[in-house]
Amino acid sequence: MIDASLKQLSQALAARQISSVELSTLFLDRIERLNPTLNAFVTVDREKSLKMAAAADARIASGTAGPLTGIPVAQKDIFCAEGWRTTCGSKMLANFVSPYDATVIEKMHRDAGLVSLGKTNMDEFAMGSSNETSFFGPVRNPWDSERVPGGSSGGSAAAVAARLAPAATGTDTGGSIRQPAALCNLTGLKPTYGVVSRYGMIAFASSLDQGGPMAASAEDCALLLNTMVGFDTRDSTSLDRPVEDYARDLDKPLAGLRIGLPKEFFGEGCDAGVMAAVRAAIAEYEKLGATCVDVSLPNSHLSVPAYYVIAPAEASSNLSRFDGVRYGYRAADYANLDDMYMKTRAQGFGAEVKRRILIGTYVLSHGYYDAYYLQAQRIRRLIANDFVEAFKSCDVIMGPTSPSTAFKLGEKAADPVQMYLSDIYTIAVNLAGLPGMSVPCGFVGGLPVGLQLIGNYFAEGQLLNVAHRYQQATDWHTRRPAGLV
Ligand code: GLN
Repeated sequence: MIDASLKQLSQALAARQISSVELSTLFLDRIERLNPTLNAFVTVDREKSLKMAAAADARIASGTAGPLTGIPVAQKDIFCAEGWRTTCGSKMLANFVSPYDATVIEKMHRDAGLVSLGKTNMDEFAMGSSNETSFFGPVRNPWDSERVPGGSSGGSAAAVAARLAPAATGTDTGGSIRQPAALCNLTGLKPTYGVVSRYGMIAFASSLDQGGPMAASAEDCALLLNTMVGFDTRDSTSLDRPVEDYARDLDKPLAGLRIGLPKEFFGEGCDAGVMAAVRAAIAEYEKLGATCVDVSLPNSHLSVPAYYVIAPAEASSNLSRFDGVRYGYRAADYANLDDMYMKTRAQGFGAEVKRRILIGTYVLSHGYYDAYYLQAQRIRRLIANDFVEAFKSCDVIMGPTSPSTAFKLGEKAADPVQMYLSDIYTIAVNLAGLPGMSVPCGFVGGLPVGLQLIGNYFAEGQLLNVAHRYQQATDWHTRRPAGLV
Protein backbone atom coordinates (compact mmCIF):
# COMPACT_ATOMS: atom_id res chain seq x y z
CA MET A 1 0.00 0.00 0.00
CA ILE A 2 2.91 2.36 0.73
CA ASP A 3 3.85 2.36 -2.97
CA ALA A 4 0.34 2.32 -4.42
CA SER A 5 -0.90 4.94 -6.87
CA LEU A 6 -3.86 7.14 -5.95
CA LYS A 7 -6.03 5.13 -8.32
CA GLN A 8 -5.05 1.87 -6.60
CA LEU A 9 -5.66 3.41 -3.18
CA SER A 10 -9.03 4.66 -4.34
CA GLN A 11 -9.98 1.20 -5.57
CA ALA A 12 -8.73 -0.50 -2.38
CA LEU A 13 -10.78 1.89 -0.25
CA ALA A 14 -13.89 1.45 -2.40
CA ALA A 15 -13.54 -2.35 -2.30
CA ARG A 16 -13.11 -2.17 1.52
CA GLN A 17 -9.74 -3.91 1.27
CA ILE A 18 -8.46 -1.30 3.66
CA SER A 19 -10.09 1.49 5.63
CA SER A 20 -8.91 5.08 5.60
CA VAL A 21 -8.03 4.77 9.29
CA GLU A 22 -5.82 1.75 8.54
CA LEU A 23 -4.24 3.39 5.52
CA SER A 24 -3.60 6.66 7.36
CA THR A 25 -2.09 4.72 10.27
CA LEU A 26 0.34 3.01 7.89
CA PHE A 27 1.62 6.38 6.73
CA LEU A 28 1.57 7.99 10.19
CA ASP A 29 3.68 5.10 11.52
CA ARG A 30 6.11 5.54 8.68
CA ILE A 31 6.33 9.28 9.38
CA GLU A 32 7.04 8.54 13.03
CA ARG A 33 9.85 6.21 12.04
CA LEU A 34 11.51 8.11 9.18
CA ASN A 35 10.75 11.76 9.82
CA PRO A 36 13.42 12.19 12.52
CA THR A 37 16.01 11.56 9.77
CA LEU A 38 14.32 13.41 6.90
CA ASN A 39 12.69 16.35 8.73
CA ALA A 40 10.05 16.48 6.00
CA PHE A 41 7.14 17.26 8.34
CA VAL A 42 7.07 20.12 10.83
CA THR A 43 3.65 19.28 12.26
CA VAL A 44 2.01 15.89 12.63
CA ASP A 45 -1.16 15.34 14.67
CA ARG A 46 -2.13 11.69 14.69
CA GLU A 47 -5.39 12.29 16.49
CA LYS A 48 -6.55 14.96 14.05
CA SER A 49 -5.54 12.86 11.04
CA LEU A 50 -7.31 9.76 12.32
CA LYS A 51 -10.43 11.78 13.02
CA MET A 52 -10.44 12.91 9.40
CA ALA A 53 -9.84 9.30 8.34
CA ALA A 54 -12.76 8.05 10.43
CA ALA A 55 -15.00 10.70 8.85
CA ALA A 56 -13.80 9.56 5.42
CA ASP A 57 -14.61 5.95 6.29
CA ALA A 58 -18.11 7.04 7.27
CA ARG A 59 -18.48 8.80 3.91
CA ILE A 60 -17.31 5.69 2.09
CA ALA A 61 -19.75 3.57 4.08
CA SER A 62 -22.64 5.92 3.33
CA GLY A 63 -21.92 5.97 -0.40
CA THR A 64 -21.18 9.69 -0.54
CA ALA A 65 -17.43 9.38 -1.16
CA GLY A 66 -15.58 11.07 -4.00
CA PRO A 67 -12.78 9.30 -5.89
CA LEU A 68 -10.07 10.38 -3.43
CA THR A 69 -12.05 10.25 -0.18
CA GLY A 70 -9.98 8.61 2.55
CA ILE A 71 -6.62 8.95 0.81
CA PRO A 72 -3.95 10.61 2.97
CA VAL A 73 -1.90 13.54 1.68
CA ALA A 74 0.72 15.93 3.05
CA GLN A 75 0.14 19.68 3.01
CA LYS A 76 2.91 22.21 2.50
CA ASP A 77 2.99 24.37 5.60
CA ILE A 78 2.16 27.47 3.58
CA PHE A 79 -1.54 26.55 3.45
CA CYS A 80 -3.60 27.76 6.39
CA ALA A 81 -5.51 24.87 7.91
CA GLU A 82 -8.03 25.47 10.68
CA GLY A 83 -6.81 24.25 14.04
CA TRP A 84 -3.42 23.27 12.62
CA ARG A 85 -0.20 25.07 13.36
CA THR A 86 0.71 26.88 10.13
CA THR A 87 4.31 28.12 10.21
CA CYS A 88 5.39 28.87 6.61
CA GLY A 89 8.81 27.64 7.75
CA SER A 90 9.31 30.74 9.89
CA LYS A 91 9.96 31.59 13.51
CA MET A 92 7.50 34.42 12.87
CA LEU A 93 4.65 31.89 12.68
CA ALA A 94 6.19 29.07 14.73
CA ASN A 95 3.24 29.10 17.15
CA PHE A 96 0.52 30.32 14.82
CA VAL A 97 -2.58 28.12 14.74
CA SER A 98 -4.74 29.10 11.82
CA PRO A 99 -8.34 30.05 12.59
CA TYR A 100 -9.46 29.21 9.05
CA ASP A 101 -8.87 26.96 6.05
CA ALA A 102 -7.21 27.98 2.79
CA THR A 103 -9.47 27.28 -0.19
CA VAL A 104 -7.16 24.46 -1.28
CA ILE A 105 -7.42 22.87 2.18
CA GLU A 106 -11.19 23.26 2.21
CA LYS A 107 -11.53 21.71 -1.22
CA MET A 108 -9.18 18.82 -0.60
CA HIS A 109 -10.32 17.86 2.88
CA ARG A 110 -13.86 19.08 3.40
CA ASP A 111 -15.07 18.61 -0.18
CA ALA A 112 -12.95 15.76 -1.58
CA GLY A 113 -12.50 13.97 1.76
CA LEU A 114 -8.72 13.53 1.61
CA VAL A 115 -6.99 13.01 4.97
CA SER A 116 -4.22 15.39 6.06
CA LEU A 117 -1.11 13.65 7.38
CA GLY A 118 0.30 16.96 8.55
CA LYS A 119 2.24 20.01 7.42
CA THR A 120 5.49 19.77 5.52
CA ASN A 121 8.72 21.66 6.01
CA MET A 122 9.65 24.39 3.54
CA ASP A 123 12.03 27.26 2.98
CA GLU A 124 11.05 30.23 5.13
CA PHE A 125 8.12 31.98 3.42
CA ALA A 126 8.93 29.82 0.36
CA MET A 127 12.16 31.72 -0.30
CA GLY A 128 14.79 29.24 -1.34
CA SER A 129 15.74 26.31 -3.54
CA SER A 130 17.16 23.90 -0.98
CA ASN A 131 14.91 23.96 2.09
CA GLU A 132 17.87 25.25 4.09
CA THR A 133 16.23 28.57 4.99
CA SER A 134 13.55 26.87 7.12
CA PHE A 135 13.45 27.88 10.79
CA PHE A 136 12.80 24.18 11.46
CA GLY A 137 16.07 23.03 9.94
CA PRO A 138 16.92 21.51 6.57
CA VAL A 139 15.10 18.60 4.95
CA ARG A 140 17.20 15.69 3.74
CA ASN A 141 16.86 14.17 0.29
CA PRO A 142 15.73 10.52 0.57
CA TRP A 143 18.00 9.68 -2.37
CA ASP A 144 21.07 10.86 -0.45
CA SER A 145 20.73 12.24 3.05
CA GLU A 146 23.79 14.48 2.59
CA ARG A 147 21.94 16.33 -0.16
CA VAL A 148 19.12 18.86 -0.33
CA PRO A 149 15.65 17.87 -1.59
CA GLY A 150 15.31 21.19 -3.44
CA GLY A 151 12.97 23.95 -2.37
CA SER A 152 10.93 25.61 -1.34
CA SER A 153 8.51 22.64 -1.31
CA GLY A 154 11.35 20.38 -0.10
CA GLY A 155 9.40 18.83 2.76
CA SER A 156 6.56 17.80 0.46
CA ALA A 157 9.04 16.38 -2.07
CA ALA A 158 11.00 14.39 0.52
CA ALA A 159 7.76 13.14 2.09
CA VAL A 160 6.41 11.74 -1.17
CA ALA A 161 9.79 10.40 -2.37
CA ALA A 162 10.25 8.50 0.91
CA ARG A 163 6.59 7.41 0.79
CA LEU A 164 5.72 9.16 4.03
CA ALA A 165 2.70 10.30 2.03
CA PRO A 166 1.15 9.09 -1.25
CA ALA A 167 1.05 12.67 -2.58
CA ALA A 168 1.44 16.27 -1.42
CA THR A 169 0.76 19.87 -2.24
CA GLY A 170 3.42 22.41 -3.12
CA THR A 171 3.55 26.00 -4.22
CA ASP A 172 5.63 27.44 -7.01
CA THR A 173 6.65 31.10 -7.25
CA GLY A 174 9.80 30.56 -9.29
CA GLY A 175 10.19 26.79 -9.41
CA SER A 176 9.34 25.50 -5.95
CA ILE A 177 7.16 22.62 -7.16
CA ARG A 178 9.18 21.65 -10.23
CA GLN A 179 12.73 21.87 -8.87
CA PRO A 180 12.18 19.76 -5.72
CA ALA A 181 10.15 17.31 -7.84
CA ALA A 182 13.16 17.01 -10.16
CA LEU A 183 15.62 16.55 -7.31
CA CYS A 184 13.49 13.86 -5.61
CA ASN A 185 12.25 11.89 -8.67
CA LEU A 186 8.66 13.13 -8.50
CA THR A 187 6.12 14.48 -10.91
CA GLY A 188 5.04 18.02 -10.05
CA LEU A 189 2.76 20.51 -11.74
CA LYS A 190 2.54 24.28 -11.46
CA PRO A 191 -0.80 25.26 -12.99
CA THR A 192 -1.57 28.36 -15.04
CA TYR A 193 -1.66 31.40 -12.75
CA GLY A 194 -5.19 31.81 -11.41
CA VAL A 195 -6.32 28.18 -11.73
CA VAL A 196 -5.69 27.29 -8.06
CA SER A 197 -6.97 29.72 -5.46
CA ARG A 198 -4.40 31.58 -3.38
CA TYR A 199 -6.85 32.32 -0.57
CA GLY A 200 -5.26 31.18 2.67
CA MET A 201 -2.00 30.33 0.95
CA ILE A 202 0.51 32.55 2.74
CA ALA A 203 1.63 35.10 0.16
CA PHE A 204 5.24 35.41 -1.01
CA ALA A 205 5.00 37.12 -4.43
CA SER A 206 1.30 37.32 -5.19
CA SER A 207 1.57 37.76 -8.96
CA LEU A 208 3.69 34.60 -9.24
CA ASP A 209 2.55 32.21 -6.46
CA GLN A 210 0.56 29.18 -7.53
CA GLY A 211 -0.28 25.96 -5.68
CA GLY A 212 -0.16 22.55 -7.32
CA PRO A 213 0.26 18.79 -6.84
CA MET A 214 3.44 16.77 -6.23
CA ALA A 215 3.15 13.01 -6.63
CA ALA A 216 4.72 9.89 -8.07
CA SER A 217 3.09 10.15 -11.48
CA ALA A 218 1.22 12.40 -13.86
CA GLU A 219 -1.92 10.38 -13.27
CA ASP A 220 -1.69 11.02 -9.52
CA CYS A 221 -1.08 14.72 -10.18
CA ALA A 222 -4.16 14.87 -12.43
CA LEU A 223 -6.38 13.28 -9.79
CA LEU A 224 -5.05 15.58 -7.09
CA LEU A 225 -5.33 18.68 -9.28
CA ASN A 226 -9.00 17.84 -9.86
CA THR A 227 -9.58 18.41 -6.14
CA MET A 228 -7.59 21.66 -5.92
CA VAL A 229 -8.89 23.86 -8.73
CA GLY A 230 -11.90 26.12 -9.17
CA PHE A 231 -13.02 29.71 -9.20
CA ASP A 232 -12.86 31.41 -5.83
CA THR A 233 -14.50 34.76 -5.12
CA ARG A 234 -12.11 35.19 -2.17
CA ASP A 235 -9.09 35.40 -4.51
CA SER A 236 -9.31 38.40 -6.84
CA THR A 237 -6.91 36.75 -9.33
CA SER A 238 -8.80 33.45 -9.43
CA LEU A 239 -10.07 32.67 -12.91
CA ASP A 240 -13.70 31.83 -13.58
CA ARG A 241 -13.46 28.98 -16.06
CA PRO A 242 -15.41 25.81 -16.73
CA VAL A 243 -14.31 22.91 -14.53
CA GLU A 244 -12.13 20.37 -16.32
CA ASP A 245 -11.41 16.72 -15.58
CA TYR A 246 -7.62 16.64 -15.79
CA ALA A 247 -7.55 12.84 -15.88
CA ARG A 248 -9.79 12.63 -18.94
CA ASP A 249 -7.21 12.95 -21.69
CA LEU A 250 -4.29 11.19 -20.04
CA ASP A 251 -4.24 8.37 -22.60
CA LYS A 252 -4.48 10.47 -25.75
CA PRO A 253 -1.82 9.37 -28.27
CA LEU A 254 1.01 11.82 -28.90
CA ALA A 255 1.25 11.38 -32.66
CA GLY A 256 1.75 14.78 -34.25
CA LEU A 257 2.75 16.52 -31.02
CA ARG A 258 5.18 19.36 -31.73
CA ILE A 259 7.84 19.77 -29.08
CA GLY A 260 9.57 23.14 -28.99
CA LEU A 261 13.20 23.06 -27.93
CA PRO A 262 14.36 26.55 -26.94
CA LYS A 263 18.00 26.97 -27.84
CA GLU A 264 18.49 28.95 -24.62
CA PHE A 265 17.68 25.82 -22.56
CA PHE A 266 20.21 23.66 -24.38
CA GLY A 267 23.29 25.87 -24.20
CA GLU A 268 25.86 26.24 -21.47
CA GLY A 269 25.14 26.22 -17.75
CA CYS A 270 23.57 22.79 -17.52
CA ASP A 271 25.30 19.73 -16.12
CA ALA A 272 26.28 17.37 -18.98
CA GLY A 273 24.68 14.31 -17.37
CA VAL A 274 21.40 16.16 -16.82
CA MET A 275 21.44 17.32 -20.43
CA ALA A 276 22.04 13.77 -21.69
CA ALA A 277 19.06 12.45 -19.70
CA VAL A 278 16.85 15.26 -21.01
CA ARG A 279 17.90 14.57 -24.60
CA ALA A 280 17.23 10.87 -24.14
CA ALA A 281 13.73 11.69 -22.89
CA ILE A 282 13.09 13.85 -25.94
CA ALA A 283 14.26 10.98 -28.17
CA GLU A 284 11.72 8.78 -26.39
CA TYR A 285 9.03 11.32 -27.25
CA GLU A 286 10.03 11.12 -30.91
CA LYS A 287 9.47 7.36 -30.72
CA LEU A 288 6.00 8.11 -29.35
CA GLY A 289 5.22 10.10 -32.48
CA ALA A 290 6.24 13.63 -31.52
CA THR A 291 8.36 15.90 -33.69
CA CYS A 292 10.83 18.50 -32.47
CA VAL A 293 11.07 22.09 -33.62
CA ASP A 294 13.67 24.67 -32.68
CA VAL A 295 12.26 27.69 -30.89
CA SER A 296 13.80 30.63 -29.12
CA LEU A 297 13.08 32.47 -25.89
CA PRO A 298 15.46 35.34 -26.51
CA ASN A 299 14.79 37.15 -23.24
CA SER A 300 15.05 34.13 -20.97
CA HIS A 301 18.50 35.16 -19.72
CA LEU A 302 16.73 38.12 -18.11
CA SER A 303 14.26 36.01 -16.15
CA VAL A 304 16.37 35.50 -13.01
CA PRO A 305 17.31 39.19 -12.70
CA ALA A 306 13.73 40.35 -13.39
CA TYR A 307 12.37 37.82 -10.88
CA TYR A 308 14.76 38.99 -8.17
CA VAL A 309 13.34 42.48 -8.52
CA ILE A 310 9.65 41.60 -8.82
CA ALA A 311 9.45 38.78 -6.26
CA PRO A 312 11.26 40.69 -3.47
CA ALA A 313 9.19 43.81 -4.25
CA GLU A 314 5.96 41.89 -3.73
CA ALA A 315 7.39 40.01 -0.75
CA SER A 316 8.43 43.23 1.00
CA SER A 317 4.85 44.42 0.74
CA ASN A 318 3.25 41.07 1.67
CA LEU A 319 5.49 40.50 4.67
CA SER A 320 4.80 43.92 6.18
CA ARG A 321 1.80 42.33 7.90
CA PHE A 322 4.12 40.40 10.23
CA ASP A 323 4.58 43.19 12.72
CA GLY A 324 3.97 41.50 16.07
CA VAL A 325 0.62 43.22 16.53
CA ARG A 326 -2.15 40.93 15.41
CA TYR A 327 -0.62 37.45 15.23
CA GLY A 328 2.65 35.63 15.07
CA TYR A 329 5.86 36.26 16.94
CA ARG A 330 6.36 39.34 19.11
CA ALA A 331 9.69 40.28 20.73
CA ALA A 332 9.61 39.80 24.48
CA ASP A 333 11.23 43.10 25.49
CA TYR A 334 10.87 46.46 23.82
CA ALA A 335 10.94 50.12 24.78
CA ASN A 336 8.12 51.48 22.60
CA LEU A 337 6.04 50.68 19.52
CA ASP A 338 8.81 51.31 16.96
CA ASP A 339 11.20 49.25 19.01
CA MET A 340 8.61 46.44 19.18
CA TYR A 341 8.26 46.39 15.38
CA MET A 342 11.99 46.43 14.86
CA LYS A 343 12.86 43.75 17.38
CA THR A 344 9.97 41.53 16.33
CA ARG A 345 11.00 41.61 12.68
CA ALA A 346 14.72 41.39 13.44
CA GLN A 347 14.18 38.30 15.59
CA GLY A 348 11.27 36.71 13.75
CA PHE A 349 12.66 36.61 10.18
CA GLY A 350 15.68 34.67 8.97
CA ALA A 351 18.53 36.02 6.83
CA GLU A 352 17.13 35.17 3.39
CA VAL A 353 13.75 36.73 4.17
CA LYS A 354 15.44 39.89 5.44
CA ARG A 355 17.59 40.03 2.31
CA ARG A 356 14.45 39.92 0.15
CA ILE A 357 12.63 42.54 2.24
CA LEU A 358 15.64 44.86 1.92
CA ILE A 359 15.92 44.35 -1.85
CA GLY A 360 12.18 44.71 -2.31
CA THR A 361 11.93 47.87 -0.26
CA TYR A 362 14.88 49.33 -2.15
CA VAL A 363 13.55 48.62 -5.65
CA LEU A 364 10.16 50.09 -4.75
CA SER A 365 11.54 53.21 -3.16
CA HIS A 366 11.14 56.66 -4.66
CA GLY A 367 13.85 57.27 -7.24
CA TYR A 368 14.60 53.59 -7.84
CA TYR A 369 11.11 52.40 -8.76
CA ASP A 370 11.46 53.43 -12.42
CA ALA A 371 15.00 52.14 -12.70
CA TYR A 372 14.35 48.68 -11.24
CA TYR A 373 10.74 47.73 -10.66
CA LEU A 374 9.27 49.27 -13.78
CA GLN A 375 12.10 47.90 -15.94
CA ALA A 376 11.61 44.44 -14.47
CA GLN A 377 7.90 44.59 -15.29
CA ARG A 378 8.73 45.52 -18.88
CA ILE A 379 11.12 42.60 -19.13
CA ARG A 380 8.42 40.37 -17.70
CA ARG A 381 6.20 41.33 -20.61
CA LEU A 382 8.98 40.57 -23.11
CA ILE A 383 9.50 37.16 -21.52
CA ALA A 384 5.78 36.38 -21.72
CA ASN A 385 5.72 37.50 -25.36
CA ASP A 386 8.61 35.15 -26.17
CA PHE A 387 6.42 32.24 -25.11
CA VAL A 388 3.45 33.50 -27.12
CA GLU A 389 5.73 33.58 -30.15
CA ALA A 390 7.22 30.13 -29.43
CA PHE A 391 3.80 28.51 -29.03
CA LYS A 392 2.93 29.56 -32.59
CA SER A 393 5.16 26.73 -33.81
CA CYS A 394 4.90 24.11 -31.04
CA ASP A 395 2.47 22.54 -28.57
CA VAL A 396 4.74 22.02 -25.58
CA ILE A 397 8.20 23.26 -24.73
CA MET A 398 10.74 20.90 -23.19
CA GLY A 399 14.07 21.25 -21.45
CA PRO A 400 15.76 20.54 -18.14
CA THR A 401 13.95 21.48 -14.91
CA SER A 402 17.12 22.16 -12.94
CA PRO A 403 20.68 22.68 -14.20
CA SER A 404 22.02 20.07 -11.76
CA THR A 405 20.96 17.10 -9.69
CA ALA A 406 20.53 17.48 -5.91
CA PHE A 407 23.46 19.39 -4.43
CA LYS A 408 25.07 18.88 -1.04
CA LEU A 409 23.63 20.50 2.08
CA GLY A 410 25.58 23.71 2.64
CA GLU A 411 27.04 23.72 -0.88
CA LYS A 412 25.20 26.82 -2.08
CA ALA A 413 23.89 28.20 1.20
CA ALA A 414 26.61 30.84 1.49
CA ASP A 415 26.20 32.15 -2.05
CA PRO A 416 22.72 33.50 -2.77
CA VAL A 417 23.40 34.05 -6.47
CA GLN A 418 24.44 30.42 -6.99
CA MET A 419 21.28 29.39 -5.17
CA TYR A 420 19.14 31.73 -7.31
CA LEU A 421 20.55 30.11 -10.47
CA SER A 422 18.96 26.77 -9.45
CA ASP A 423 15.77 28.18 -10.93
CA ILE A 424 17.24 29.41 -14.19
CA TYR A 425 14.91 27.19 -16.27
CA THR A 426 11.77 27.47 -14.16
CA ILE A 427 11.37 31.17 -13.34
CA ALA A 428 10.34 32.41 -16.80
CA VAL A 429 7.26 30.17 -16.59
CA ASN A 430 6.05 31.96 -13.46
CA LEU A 431 6.78 35.39 -14.93
CA ALA A 432 4.62 34.44 -17.93
CA GLY A 433 1.92 32.77 -15.78
CA LEU A 434 2.14 29.54 -17.79
CA PRO A 435 1.68 25.94 -16.59
CA GLY A 436 4.83 23.88 -16.13
CA MET A 437 5.69 20.37 -15.00
CA SER A 438 8.68 18.33 -13.98
CA VAL A 439 8.77 14.64 -14.88
CA PRO A 440 11.41 12.08 -13.80
CA CYS A 441 13.63 11.22 -16.80
CA GLY A 442 16.69 9.40 -15.53
CA PHE A 443 19.56 9.39 -13.08
CA VAL A 444 23.09 10.76 -12.92
CA GLY A 445 25.32 9.21 -10.28
CA GLY A 446 22.29 7.71 -8.57
CA LEU A 447 20.49 11.06 -8.36
CA PRO A 448 17.24 11.84 -10.19
CA VAL A 449 16.91 14.19 -13.17
CA GLY A 450 13.75 16.09 -14.11
CA LEU A 451 12.45 16.90 -17.59
CA GLN A 452 10.54 20.17 -17.69
CA LEU A 453 7.37 20.47 -19.79
CA ILE A 454 5.92 23.91 -20.38
CA GLY A 455 2.46 24.36 -21.84
CA ASN A 456 0.41 27.20 -23.20
CA TYR A 457 -2.12 28.92 -20.94
CA PHE A 458 -4.63 26.42 -19.49
CA ALA A 459 -2.88 23.47 -21.14
CA GLU A 460 -2.37 21.60 -17.87
CA GLY A 461 -4.57 18.78 -19.19
CA GLN A 462 -2.34 18.47 -22.23
CA LEU A 463 0.84 18.58 -20.12
CA LEU A 464 -0.49 15.79 -17.93
CA ASN A 465 -1.32 13.76 -21.04
CA VAL A 466 2.16 14.34 -22.47
CA ALA A 467 3.75 13.34 -19.15
CA HIS A 468 1.50 10.32 -18.70
CA ARG A 469 2.26 8.84 -22.12
CA TYR A 470 5.97 9.10 -21.36
CA GLN A 471 5.44 7.41 -18.01
CA GLN A 472 3.61 4.55 -19.71
CA ALA A 473 6.65 4.02 -21.93
CA THR A 474 9.34 4.43 -19.23
CA ASP A 475 9.77 3.48 -15.59
CA TRP A 476 11.91 6.29 -14.16
CA HIS A 477 9.03 7.58 -12.05
CA THR A 478 8.58 4.17 -10.40
CA ARG A 479 12.11 4.08 -8.96
CA ARG A 480 12.33 4.50 -5.21
CA PRO A 481 15.30 5.48 -3.07
CA ALA A 482 17.13 2.48 -1.61
CA GLY A 483 17.87 2.26 2.08
CA LEU A 484 14.46 3.39 3.32
CA VAL A 485 12.38 0.57 4.66
N1 GLN B 1 13.84 29.51 -5.45
C1 GLN B 1 13.04 30.63 -5.80
C2 GLN B 1 13.13 31.68 -4.71
O1 GLN B 1 13.88 31.52 -3.82
C3 GLN B 1 11.61 30.20 -6.01
C4 GLN B 1 10.91 29.89 -4.75
C5 GLN B 1 9.49 29.49 -4.97
O2 GLN B 1 9.09 29.09 -6.06
N2 GLN B 1 8.70 29.63 -3.93
O3 GLN B 1 12.47 32.66 -4.74
